[in-house]
Amino acid sequence: MPLTFSLIELGWTPDRNDQLPELAGSDLLPARVTVQEREGYIVAGEAGETSAQVAGRFRIDSASAADYPVVGDWVLVRPGDRSATIHKVLPRTTCVSRKVAWERADEQVLAANVDVVLVVTSLDADLNVRRIERYLALVRDSGALGVVVLNKADLAGDRAAQLDAVQAVTGDVAIIVTNARSGDGIERVAAYLDGHRTVALLGSSGVGKSTITNRLLGDERLATAEVRADGKGRHTTTRRQLIVVHGRGLILDTPGMRELQLWDADLETTFADLTVLAAACRFRDCSHNGEPGCAVGAAIAVGSLTAERLASYRKLERELATIAIRQVKRADSEERKRRRS
Ligand code: GDP
Ligand code: ZN
Repeated sequence: MPLTFSLIELGWTPDRNDQLPELAGSDLLPARVTVQEREGYIVAGEAGETSAQVAGRFRIDSASAADYPVVGDWVLVRPGDRSATIHKVLPRTTCVSRKVAWERADEQVLAANVDVVLVVTSLDADLNVRRIERYLALVRDSGALGVVVLNKADLAGDRAAQLDAVQAVTGDVAIIVTNARSGDGIERVAAYLDGHRTVALLGSSGVGKSTITNRLLGDERLATAEVRADGKGRHTTTRRQLIVVHGRGLILDTPGMRELQLWDADLETTFADLTVLAAACRFRDCSHNGEPGCAVGAAIAVGSLTAERLASYRKLERELATIAIRQVKRADSEERKRRRS
């Protein structure tokens, strides 16, 4: 059963109405991009969700990658039998992008029309003020409103000193202290979804972004997080990257945003304690899974390292490995494309 949403629930604002003159007398409909994959898009509109491809004409007219739709974009589509075609990307109100200094001036757009970016960090040993500063600079460039969320309040050391340090770099940006495990402070975060706003979370692995997202979604998590993409008769389930929180706003969680925070987080700096410990393991390729002479295991045994922190480290390591594989594949396919043309 396709879920249908009103345009308002998808984040449409009345000031966009004047972007629609071309709709009069045409069969084009506004829709919002909820999933972006190699094979195409999934868009949601008043008629429900459908897979979509950019129109041939669109390809011809697009000068750069930044012209192509990304998650969060409002597009004009022509409905089709199996798949809709995307004819136009409506002007973006905000644009989260990665500008790689040492590459061409090309920017890689990661998400569009994000109203609020929650810069999430945790109040445990991981607190890194410089990182918050970098993320806030990126948010400022995007045009979205930045909000700092200091999670894991239950693990805070000297909370007053930590807040002082954070406030020194945040200026007039709002700061919310949360404990996503207990739910403390989450209502203040949820308030940013009001008015059907689109909210994205940015922050290093392990700070609690998924836990906060699940709190915001409440019971709706399973009902809304997955979508069936019926391309070519094959039924595959895709994780929705733009999730409607019923009666409130939308949460944007794309692989692109995840990569952004991973590239930013330097594994060795973020987990300097683990790097030092691992160097003391008997075997150089120790996987810290009960090998003899494992310094990491010994630290957990005496309580100077938590199993949770090792788990966060493993999660980040896995995510970095996945990205590395994806990058190789991307380079491969670009190389093939280059040879064909
Ligand atoms: P993500 O990588 O940013 O999505 O982080 P997760 O949401 O996966 O959280 C990483 C770990 O931190 C999990 O074990 C969570 O249960 C835990 N966690 C999340 N929020 C809190 C919190 O407020 N307090 C404590 N003590 N643990 C938390
Ligand atoms: Zn080890």
